[in-house]
Amino acid sequence: MVNDLEKKMERLFGTDGVRGVINRDLIPEKILRLSQAIGTFFGEGSRILVGRDARAGGEMIENLVVAGLMSTGVKVYRAGLVPTPALQYVIKDQGFDGGVMITASHNPPEYNGIKVIDSDGIEISRDKEEVIEELYYTGRFNRVSWRELVEESKLYPYVNEIYVKAVVSHVDKELIRKRRFKIVVDGANSVGSITTPWVVRELGAKVYTVNGNIDPLFSGRNPEPTPDTLYETAEVVKEIKADFGVAHDGDADRAIVIDELGRIQWGDRTATVLAKYIASKHKDLPRRVFTAVSSSIIVEEVLKKMGVEVIWLPVGSIGISRALAREGGICGFEENGGFMYPLHHPVRDGAMTTALLLQLLAEENTTLSQLYDELPKYYAVKTKIPMSRDKALKAVEAVKEAFKNYRQITIDGVKVISSDYWFLVRPSGTEPLLRIMIEAKTKDKANELLKILKQVIEEAIKQ
Ligand code: MG
Repeated sequence: MVNDLEKKMERLFGTDGVRGVINRDLIPEKILRLSQAIGTFFGEGSRILVGRDARAGGEMIENLVVAGLMSTGVKVYRAGLVPTPALQYVIKDQGFDGGVMITASHNPPEYNGIKVIDSDGIEISRDKEEVIEELYYTGRFNRVSWRELVEESKLYPYVNEIYVKAVVSHVDKELIRKRRFKIVVDGANSVGSITTPWVVRELGAKVYTVNGNIDPLFSGRNPEPTPDTLYETAEVVKEIKADFGVAHDGDADRAIVIDELGRIQWGDRTATVLAKYIASKHKDLPRRVFTAVSSSIIVEEVLKKMGVEVIWLPVGSIGISRALAREGGICGFEENGGFMYPLHHPVRDGAMTTALLLQLLAEENTTLSQLYDELPKYYAVKTKIPMSRDKALKAVEAVKEAFKNYRQITIDGVKVISSDYWFLVRPSGTEPLLRIMIEAKTKDKANELLKILKQVIEEAIKQ
């Protein structure tokens, strides 16, 4: 019986919540069932905060989530349009028992999804996701009697305000105001367009918004901040001579920075600049930084000199947040622009990242391009090879063997670190792909490594 059930149970939660194309994979029946499982998990009487980003289908999902939760006796509070980090912060700060964020983060516009947040304001752990999945498949939902259904859901329109005040409280408002910065904010036509301009204005800077509407169609652009989507925003930064630009994803937990020269800076570079600053300013914080194996080793190269250890973790922000919350440290981050500042809240937070950059610029009296140019220089190559997961695992083993005399980190694929290069070969967590990331001191070295890796991999998956 249990085995039959296990066979039937496919994993609902991906690396960050339940996602799907709205009304195709993510249909009302599924959302309602999942919401009853979530409500049963949190338990009768618990206070749950529900928020959403600007995506199509957000209101429909919200109504289904509210109905499913209420049927299990949960008290529901509706936050409306809020960034994920705002909902997360307020859940912890205001003592909610948990929350549901309706978002598909950076995915294309036709996607939507659900993230479940625990009472500590961090996405629930994998163990708890499994409990919810089991409830979903067995259908053992708590259904309260009619007497428990007399209470209605409540509007809770204070999340963005509480959040903005908290973010601003972590920096020196007067010092930043004096500099009269000019900042471009690209809110990806979603909830980041509400809160980040607000934070920047509170800090006395002039805000220029790009993609600053609430637009479920995202103006035809993917809400993922990458060099492909940000070239226009970068032009604006240069044209108006802004101090920097910041671009979010659909739920504003990521922040990709564009320096004043219009160069789009990847998240691990910004995180290294910020980690260096936080480590020198807050000497009382445990001397460690958490990041995924997919981040560049420049962070280790820079921080080692300051006595700060880098803890490498598998790819996925939840594990990084949970490790940072548990063990303490200077920060946590992902190379895609997710940066976690534990003195505020140990989750990825686009507006907090922006405020910290303003503080850093105000204090150090320099430009962002100078800070980035001080980082060690590497030439990067990224590619992916389509193959089954089995083959991808074989390829990883072959690479481990071929580079067995080098320093390796093998918690998620294989990361090989040498004195003038590093690379990561790992199976994708979501698609039938093998991902390869290489950084080397020269372009020739990076291309040579790619050639060698491709040979090793082809040989390994030939059979
Ligand atoms: Mg996101």
